[in-house]
Order: sequence, then structure tokens, then C-alpha cells
Amino acid sequence: MRRTRPAAAALLLALALWGCAGGAPRPDIAVPPPPESQGASPSLATDLARQGPYLPDAALRLCVMQISNGPEADTRGYVSRFSPLIRVNERVILATAPANNACLSSGFGPRFGRVHEGMDLQAKPAATIFSAGPGRVREAGTARGYGRQVVIDHGHGVFTRYAHLAEFAPGIRAGTRIGFGQPLGRMGESGNATAVHLHYEVLTGSWGPKGSYGLTPHDPLSFPAYEWQDSAS
Ligand SMILES: [Zn+2]
Repeated sequence: MRRTRPAAAALLLALALWGCAGGAPRPDIAVPPPPESQGASPSLATDLARQGPYLPDAALRLCVMQISNGPEADTRGYVSRFSPLIRVNERVILATAPANNACLSSGFGPRFGRVHEGMDLQAKPAATIFSAGPGRVREAGTARGYGRQVVIDHGHGVFTRYAHLAEFAPGIRAGTRIGFGQPLGRMGESGNATAVHLHYEVLTGSWGPKGSYGLTPHDPLSFPAYEWQDSAS
């Protein structure tokens, strides 16, 4: 079922039902295992063969019930105001969580006396990371703190960052044109990371001499949900 691509609405509904049928989250169990076992997927190609293409999850759950800077969630640990697609501005629609079957391990906002400028997603085993929207790769390389990272320019002053990758997908380099849901690399713990995860940022601003460091980060969950009717009005 997960390899087929019916109309988006039917797909999301089916995923929601599938997710429910798959069992409730287990709030009494702390999810993150040791990094060694999270890295069990040996390569991007193997992971893609295992999990197939990007299928945005209809819901996002917390990896553990208590996250200090986590968003509001229901009693089962599902993020209350989650939509698979967000409308950043009039022209740019993005995926909210650009990995399959991921959970949220840290939210946007204050953390350890600093501001955490993105949201962290985990999946077991380490999952492929996909582009949240079409655009052009601006940065693909190693950056201070972020480790192996990709920054995509979606146009109209909107950018996304994918950090701590274990490896890049073939052909991902500065200048590469990219579509929605295209593999960028695989979740890892390069750079300043204490566990295998994706650090995902939605940024706005103008590209200048400071590159992605000159942009303004936003909480991906702060944007309104994209409703397909929006584009018809
Ligand atoms: Zn992070």
C-alpha cells in the first residue's frame, strides 16, 4: 500500500488510518536507543529500497512524552497542530517533516539556555531525508555545528536546512535543481549532535554574503496548514 501514489487527499487519509491501525504510541517507553543501533541502515540506497519514496506522515508524534521545548500534544503524544504541508507564504508550500515515519525529539525554541533554531526528527533505523519542496541547492557540504548539511532555496525568500546528515544523496551539490520529496541524504549525527537525527530548519530572508547564517529561522509548526483549496481561491 505504501508504494502506491493515489490522489494526495486519499493518500493522507489512508496514512492516517494506517497510522491508527498500526497501534497507539507507547508513552511509557523512551524511544531513542543507542546511536549504534539507530545507524543500522548501512547506506542510503539500502534505506531507499527498504522504505520507498517520501510519503508525508499525516500526523507527527513526540519521540517521548516529555520534551522540554516540545509543541502542544494530545494525551497520546501526537502534536496538536500538525499538518503535513505548511504554507510559508503565498508562493511556497513545504513539507513539515521531511522524513518517513519520524518522531519529533526536540522542538523549536529555548533549550539549554540557547534558542534551538529548528526541529529535530528521529527515525529508526536512520531514515532518508527528502526535500521539503522544489528549489535549488544553495549549500551542500560540512558546516560548523551542523555537520553535513544541505540548504535549499525555494525562491520567494524561503529556504530549508537539513543538518547532521550521515551522507549525501548522489548529485546533491550547490546549484542542483531539485523537486519535492527528492532524496537529499541520510539522517546521521555529523557535526554537533549527540544522537542520530535530522535537524530541520525553515528560514526566510535574502541570500547575502553570510549565506544561510544570514537568514531568519522559524518554527516549522508556526506556519498555517496548507489546504488545497487555498490555491483555488
Ligand atoms: Zn536540532
